[in-house]
Amino acid sequence: MNYKNITVAGSGVLGYQIAFQAAYHDFNVVVYDINDEILSKAKAKFDTMSTAFKEDLHASEKQLQRAFDNLSYTSNLEEAVKNADLLIEAVPENPKIKIDFYKKLAQVAPSKTIFATNSSTLLPSQFADATGRPTKFLALHFANEIWKHNTAEIMGHDQTDPEVFKDVIAFAKAIGMLALPLAKEQPGYILNSLLVPLLTAATDLYVTGVADIQTIDKTWMKATGAPLGPFGILDVVGITTAYNINKIAAEESKDELKIKTVNFLKEQFIDKNKLGVSTGEGFYKYPNPAYKEEDFLT
Ligand code: NAD
Repeated sequence: MNYKNITVAGSGVLGYQIAFQAAYHDFNVVVYDINDEILSKAKAKFDTMSTAFKEDLHASEKQLQRAFDNLSYTSNLEEAVKNADLLIEAVPENPKIKIDFYKKLAQVAPSKTIFATNSSTLLPSQFADATGRPTKFLALHFANEIWKHNTAEIMGHDQTDPEVFKDVIAFAKAIGMLALPLAKEQPGYILNSLLVPLLTAATDLYVTGVADIQTIDKTWMKATGAPLGPFGILDVVGITTAYNINKIAAEESKDELKIKTVNFLKEQFIDKNKLGVSTGEGFYKYPNPAYKEEDFLT
């Protein structure tokens, strides 16, 4: 892997984190977004991120200054990508926006540039044609709070060049990630293929009256040694995400239990602004949730 110049397209929740992480690990990073106003908001977020890097990673002023020096910004796509070895796409999770973006990008990117999508729910094969370079395209998926939850799931589609796949694994490691390669396309990658069924099973057990929330979490925590149970995890992920996933499943399946779950989440949590850790209350109250108490599992 001889990447040096990285372009991150989209400076929203994940995009600016990816950009800062790569800049911190000494890559030259160009941040691209649709206009300069959005880019100036992103710059302000880098200040907040550097505080998190200091607290969580004990980053020094010198290291952070170097990260800032490695960052540049533009709302001109051709300019953004002209030297890029790798472009990481973090534009909204909307197939139409992504396809439009790749079609424009394909016209201006040099042939050497590898494209990687950070999409959480869409498959790279959906965009391979629009990129105009299917062999140089794959998914590189990060988690929110990338500097702490430093996983990178790397997933090709059936035309991805194996050398490109290897290089992107090496890049992920070079920016401090635990690289997690997938051998084939899978909706939800590894993490959400495991997590979504667990969280769904937990809400089903509660909604059908099998056990209360704390009993379900205690079972999981004690029996597997996990630090959080499914409802503790839901509070971290955000109950809005769980609500959205269940809502889509309910609309598609018309399943009675799913509809009941959606109504439960809406009435008890969404409507009351109990969205989890972010609002101070979800299934537990924060900053001192019951599952952190010493006698929770005794
Ligand atoms: P977001 O809405 O916060 O940010 C999207 C950014 O893209 C915005 O700054 C927007 O101005 C910009 N944008 C819109 N149209 C654009 C275009 N045509 N060209 C360039 N930029 C454009 O979204 P996000 O949460 O950062 O998600 C981005 C991607 O990352 C999605 O594919 C999502 O699935 C994925 N992702 C998100 C998370 C998460 O926790 N938020 C986690 C992992 C992966």
